[in-house]
Amino acid sequence: NLSKATDYLQHVYAVVQHRDPNQTEFLEAVHDFLETMTPVFEQHPEYIEANILERLTEPERVIQFRVPWLDDQGYAQVNRGFRVQFNSAIGPYKGGLRLHPSVNLSIVKFLGFEQIFKNSLTGLPIGGGKGGSDFDPKGKSDNEIMRFCQSFMTELSKYIGLDTDVPAGDIGVGGREIGFLYGQYKRLRGADRGVLTGKGLSYGGSLARTEATGYGLAYYTDEMLKAHKQTFADKRVAISGAGNVAIYAIQKVEQLGGKVISCSDSNGYVIDENGIDFKVVKQIKEVERGRIKEYADRVDSATYHEGSVWTANVAYDIALPCATQNEIDGAKAQTIIANGAKVVAEGANMPSNPDAIAAYKAAKVLYGPAKAANAGGVAVSALEMSQNSMRLSWSFDEVDGRLKKIMQNIFANSVAAADQYGVSGDYLSGANIAGFTKVADAMLAQGLV
Ligand code: GLU
Repeated sequence: NLSKATDYLQHVYAVVQHRDPNQTEFLEAVHDFLETMTPVFEQHPEYIEANILERLTEPERVIQFRVPWLDDQGYAQVNRGFRVQFNSAIGPYKGGLRLHPSVNLSIVKFLGFEQIFKNSLTGLPIGGGKGGSDFDPKGKSDNEIMRFCQSFMTELSKYIGLDTDVPAGDIGVGGREIGFLYGQYKRLRGADRGVLTGKGLSYGGSLARTEATGYGLAYYTDEMLKAHKQTFADKRVAISGAGNVAIYAIQKVEQLGGKVISCSDSNGYVIDENGIDFKVVKQIKEVERGRIKEYADRVDSATYHEGSVWTANVAYDIALPCATQNEIDGAKAQTIIANGAKVVAEGANMPSNPDAIAAYKAAKVLYGPAKAANAGGVAVSALEMSQNSMRLSWSFDEVDGRLKKIMQNIFANSVAAADQYGVSGDYLSGANIAGFTKVADAMLAQGLV
């Protein structure tokens, strides 16, 4: 059966390449995924018979639209909006909206593809989707952000809904943007609290949603450490990014006894030997919307450096990339390994490129892949949907407790799937297999759709 499985996987990749030869990020995500699928397809000829992968790699629906908005000078600006409704086999499409100048169909599709398996891993009934725009929020006024969000939602509102597609935040979309998007949705379609997640607490949001991705990353990493009879105590931790994921990863890692020595933005990074003060980062990034350089102006023990934190020569035990896709290539992975890292767990989506993943493997670095390690955000989004449907809200501790349990289950299920398919200790394969088999079985059960 081996040759049949590998033949099929190669065939699928050729088909995907043929469909969209220029979608580099999407092709990378599909390639990384297919590389881990051989043991599954050796054991499940029914997946080959149903041609499950040619189906799974093609989104159920792609929506692209014009987003016109007026800037503060009164000029008409135009951006491109996207929503990729990738797979609804196990529930309504669920996934964030990203606002960043790099956004294109390839990036939205890679994120949507990853979201399918991530959402499946949470154990909650949510399918995979993703959206966004090439709008650059940097330097825009609150009014410009609002006009953009209103225009974006005017079109998007036709395609989403509580039982069909439930967007949330991603890079460039936080509480402010979700508020504007939700307000516009409500004007057009009427109140529907379940239609977006990451809402403010006063209008249907969930406690602990803001913290969820960063906390979840720390909980997942803690499970990796525990499986090797270790804890965060006295560990030095390098973090990249300074957004929502990084900020709450810093807080939780420090609560669990680790010392976070870095964080960063797209210009540079800070090193703080006394441990990064998450409150200062939060104030600079969330309240003032400033640059991370300012951290070093405010904290005496910190130094600021231009460039990527993954080029710095500084000792640490654990690396938690929380910035963006492909922030770590092969050379940066070698630096991370040379700095002493024994664990890499991903808060961002696909922060390690294929060379980096190969380097971790060769150096026997424990690798926690994004779709497992950062699933806490979308998991609590699904809990927000549950609370909205029940018209009640749980306490912070209730949500945080459920989040922790979900992250523990994701880790345990990934380990079990890896064991079952003969790739023990490979958390990437385990996460892909556990996430995939649930979706594949649901697709088989529902016939050729
Ligand atoms: N954007 C987040 C992710 O990458 C969260 C999505 C959501 O909450 O729907 O998983």
